Amino acid sequence: MRVLVIGAGVAGASVAWSLARRGAEVVVVDRLHDGAATLAGAGIVRASLGITEPGFVEAYAAAVRHYPEAMRCLGDALGRDVADEVGYRVVGGLWLSDDDASLADVEARLRAFDGAQVGTVSRLDPAQTRELFPVAAPKLAAVHVTRAARVDGRRLRLALLAAARAHGAVTHDDDARLSPDGTAVVLASGERLEADHVVVAAGTWTPDALAPRGLTVPVTPQRGQISHLGLPGTDTSRWPTATAVGSSHYLLAFDDSRVVVGATRERDAGTDYRVTAAGQLEVLGEALTVAPGLADATLLETRVGFRPTSPDGVPIVGRVADDVTVVTGYGASGLTLGPYVGERVADDVLGTGADDAQNRSRHALAAFAPSRFAEAR
Ligand SMILES: Cc1cc2nc3c(=O)[nH]c(=O)nc-3n(C[C@H](O)[C@H](O)[C@H](O)COP(=O)(O)OP(=O)(O)OC[C@H]3O[C@@H](n4cnc5c(N)ncnc54)[C@H](O)[C@@H]3O)c2cc1C
Repeated sequence: MRVLVIGAGVAGASVAWSLARRGAEVVVVDRLHDGAATLAGAGIVRASLGITEPGFVEAYAAAVRHYPEAMRCLGDALGRDVADEVGYRVVGGLWLSDDDASLADVEARLRAFDGAQVGTVSRLDPAQTRELFPVAAPKLAAVHVTRAARVDGRRLRLALLAAARAHGAVTHDDDARLSPDGTAVVLASGERLEADHVVVAAGTWTPDALAPRGLTVPVTPQRGQISHLGLPGTDTSRWPTATAVGSSHYLLAFDDSRVVVGATRERDAGTDYRVTAAGQLEVLGEALTVAPGLADATLLETRVGFRPTSPDGVPIVGRVADDVTVVTGYGASGLTLGPYVGERVADDVLGTGADDAQNRSRHALAAFAPSRFAEAR
């Protein structure tokens, strides 16, 4: 089967890799728009206290649990240990507060998760908190989980595409839209590519790619501004992910003495690809309140990405025509969801002859069905 994938952020690259390793003939087209979310994403992969929608909770949990397996499969395809290459490491996670009741509440909620998502849950006093996360404000205590990880979205995307190519996938650096007259896509150059099935994983730009066929999904951009700070000479490679209880802001660290702090969640900015004064103030202000030890860090860069967001906050994954599947609406969770959902989408697209896998995959993604919006109209 020949499948065209429009968009190679984490959503499209994951689907391409999962299809290619099952033997599909895969062609990927991506023109890397300014603000592609995968290039800006922080990279936290851990249990979420914010996801509560039935169906999404289970799929998200499965995605968190799937990550180590995804790393193993990618490593097998590329013939090397990929986890380090893509910055995937289980570093543990902190929820920080100086309020005992808030911490008790978070602790109880985290203890309700299965161990495969959170590992061991414990309470840390301020001194123990600063042992793991030395830049934290001295008054902050924490709830700690052992199973929280981080990954570098840019490098993950490259590894997924390299693995897809190792299984025969072909990639084009171009714009593509569905053809008005059936399963084909038309490139900006005018070239027409034919396929048996098209997967549109074009992030917040998905409606544009679908439009010529008269198809649509309600996905809109949510701008995120996120800053990278340098702490030369400090080993940050094992620092946990950290979030202040009740805040949507977070901090995480990578091996190169780099701490990532963010992020804004701006609904009215469209695809305005700029770092703004207010965005920078918000990101640094929130970070330094939790981690005043970062005050002297170097501001290395601020990235801007457009999270593809659906009206109900749940991803939009599934068929919009017999021969067209959309994979979008990942919002703030795409780096976590990508590899797992990619597997389920590949099962569904190639499902003939593998009924069990196909049925399991349809069930796993039922809450993401694009048809829920058509039914609501
Ligand atoms: C600041 C920020 C922090 C985040 N932190 C986290 C986090 O900690 N953990 C987590 O799990 N998730 C996080 N996310 C969310 C995650 O990054 C996104 O959900 C995910 O990257 C979305 O991936 P995507 O492939 O759907 O979209 P994108 O990454 O935007 O990719 C879409 C791709 O399609 C291409 N494209 C669009 N139209 C066309 C066309 N017509 N033809 C060809 N190509 C096209 C674009 O150029 C782009 O490359 C964060 C996001 C942001 C912005």
